[in-house]
Amino acid sequence: MGDALNTFLREQLEHRRDRLESALNQFGRAGQLAQLLQEVDSALERMDQGTYGLCEACHEPVEADRLMADPLIRFCISHLTTEQQRALEQDLELASRTQASLLPKPHVVQDGWELCYHYAPLGPVSGDYVDVLTAGADGGNLFFLLGDVVGKGVAASMLMAHIHATIRTLISLHRRVDELVEQANRLFCESTLAAYFATLVCGRASHNGEVELSNAGHCPPLVVRGGQVERTEPTGLPIGLFSNSQYSARRVSLGKGETLFLFTDGLTEARSHSGEEYGESRLTDLLAARHGLSPQALAAACLEDVNAFLAGAPRADDLTIMVLRRQD
Ligand SMILES: [Zn+2]
Repeated sequence: MGDALNTFLREQLEHRRDRLESALNQFGRAGQLAQLLQEVDSALERMDQGTYGLCEACHEPVEADRLMADPLIRFCISHLTTEQQRALEQDLELASRTQASLLPKPHVVQDGWELCYHYAPLGPVSGDYVDVLTAGADGGNLFFLLGDVVGKGVAASMLMAHIHATIRTLISLHRRVDELVEQANRLFCESTLAAYFATLVCGRASHNGEVELSNAGHCPPLVVRGGQVERTEPTGLPIGLFSNSQYSARRVSLGKGETLFLFTDGLTEARSHSGEEYGESRLTDLLAARHGLSPQALAAACLEDVNAFLAGAPRADDLTIMVLRRQD
């Protein structure tokens, strides 16, 4: 298990221990509280012995995202009782519906821009983050966001929901994307789950074709002008690493019919049966060849191309693409 995760879990356990102790002092040694305290102590003991985080049935590591959600669990998914497995499935089903309800409209037309995205979680929930917002009464404020929380599964999806709520709160306070990302980073660093980090692109499109991008360590968005494709490099580190990180913004100007293509690494790092990556150059070739397409058609062409490349090989990560086109 990683050191950062271990430190994080130990802090969580010690914090719980303190809270339980003070509750016990207040309410007396009530049965359930005393038993919880025993479980926490036993987890701390296992941590000292080096057996913490290993399944008690098969001695293989318990899934890290499940430990983050509940540091007291002692069995891997394969060794849960049927009843526990059913409860877990119900939780995931609920988490999946909650996450789906956070997604923006799949197709937006505003101020001379057309935007669509495709969101494909690997499992029931995703660590990818996508949002589209319009702020301000004066128009010209189409904000679009795409991010990727490190890791997959439930813990990543919880952090994704956290970022979603943070950005929704901050967006009314900021007009500049770099300030928005800078403050989101500070808040993310202060959150209790900050043993993890995320990459994030925040963009704002104006009606005159200007796009402002602040990119916290995310895969470079691609600008498609006719048959030419240009990368726009990151402007800062991923969020959640250092609370005092500084972010800048980059401006790109899009002419009519030109496109900005954003994606998560689940696209370019998809691997065929032989282990070959789909890669950015395949993507660039496709975008150059199909530059005239509408956002929806371009997204569909891209998915078709990556699926043809995979030829049935299973995906290993969440995958999201977003296409923003300046209308003709
Ligand atoms: Zn097991």
